[in-house]
Amino acid sequence: MKRHSFTADVLAYFKARPNVWIDAGTLQDIGGRFASRTRISEVRKRLEKAGEGTIENRVIPQRGHRPECAAGRYGYEMRCGCETVTSSYRYVPAVPAEPLTATPHNLNALVPGDGRLW
Ligand SMILES: [Zn+2]
Repeated sequence: MKRHSFTADVLAYFKARPNVWIDAGTLQDIGGRFASRTRISEVRKRLEKAGEGTIENRVIPQRGHRPECAAGRYGYEMRCGCETVTSSYRYVPAVPAEPLTATPHNLNALVPGDGRLW
């Protein structure tokens, strides 16, 4: 039986969603909470080695108070613990160095660059 591979699962998930930001929580649901950042970095290395693109990361602060937060109810700006960040990742496919044109002599060149690893 084939061993479950977080890296392969996440790679497949990213490749099905080019240029779509995916939050870190979703990726943890796919591959498990531990070491997911390390494994996303492995996915990035595999993509870059294959010349297929990369994985970008962005971190966005989430401002605003929880509904039950007293500080928020009175409009205070204070370190009440409500502030969090969301981290998300996206697969950015490699851009071909030269645009391919569908002229008869280079039709074969259209086959390898379709964005699939396998
Ligand atoms: Zn608060």
